Amino acid sequence: MSRPEADPRIPFPHTDARLACRTEPSWFVQEHGQMSNADDRARIERARTACRGCPIAADCLKWALANPELTPTGVWAATISRERKALRRRLQARHGLDWVGVIAQADRAREQARLNRARPSAPDPAPAASAMWTSHYEPWREPLTPGRQQRNRELLNQT
Ligand code: SF4
Repeated sequence: MSRPEADPRIPFPHTDARLACRTEPSWFVQEHGQMSNADDRARIERARTACRGCPIAADCLKWALANPELTPTGVWAATISRERKALRRRLQARHGLDWVGVIAQADRAREQARLNRARPSAPDPAPAASAMWTSHYEPWREPLTPGRQQRNRELLNQT
């Protein structure tokens, strides 16, 4: 049987951080109903604690929720399968059947806004040029230099 494809709309977040789920994968194993003894509960609590300190926990949770077929068991972003099912039901109630699309779209909009904020704004035009386009520009107050007088005469002679 082929492995289900991940939903491309919500990619798994990239990080160079050492993730506990990679260094200590046994903590994160949680099969259905496997919380019955104290050892399991302690181990899963260790995984949850590691997730709470993980730098990509929020995006990991989004990915895990968007990919139920890839995350039917195990601890993901401090949640176990039953908690993820409840979260998916709430997201569907709030955003409709295509809640993954709604969340992906909101993520793209946020990323675009962040890029727009980071983009350097165009430099202001030179003060002299910009002054010419304001209603405060009063050329008659500028000093009449011999050169300007000469240009004025030439312009008058052309008319
Ligand atoms: S939040 Fe996700 S990526 Fe981070 S340790 Fe937990 S399962 Fe791993």
